[in-house]
Amino acid sequence: MNNLEQTLSIIKPDAVERNLDQEIKNIFLNNGFKIIKEKKIKLEKNEAEKFYKVHETKPFYNDLCEYLSSGPILVMILEKENAVLSNRELMGATNPKDAKEGTIRKKYGISIDKNSVHGSDSKENGKIEIDFFFKN
Ligand code: UDP
Ligand code: MG
Repeated sequence: MNNLEQTLSIIKPDAVERNLDQEIKNIFLNNGFKIIKEKKIKLEKNEAEKFYKVHETKPFYNDLCEYLSSGPILVMILEKENAVLSNRELMGATNPKDAKEGTIRKKYGISIDKNSVHGSDSKENGKIEIDFFFKN
């Protein structure tokens, strides 16, 4: 029953640029997540490339890394029971067009690339991504 987890969440440049970060943080808080740590940063392109390395063979990799490093992002460690899955459900599908009503991407996402939020896709990747941003 008790499965307290942490996951990494990023509010991406399209949402920070529209000043949606506080509104999106409130959605997490209202859905039972605790924000354990947060910081607003701007990545260099080579850092975005490292973060998204799993996608390096995909056709959208270069644009994705350009985009993630195009402006400030808000990076957060979220904690909740089953945080990884719970966050993925709250975010909605990768393409905002396919995201369910009530999800963050449905509400704020502009397109498949400018989809407002990132969330870890497994507990294991959550740990790796949290370390990427918060291990000194
Ligand atoms: N992405 C894209 N084009 C695609 C698929 C993905 O631009 O055809 C971007 C999108 O911003 C997505 C990110 O690449 O959030 C990482 O893709 P992934 O499949 O991991 O989706 P996510 O886990 O973010 O839902
Ligand atoms: Mg992913």
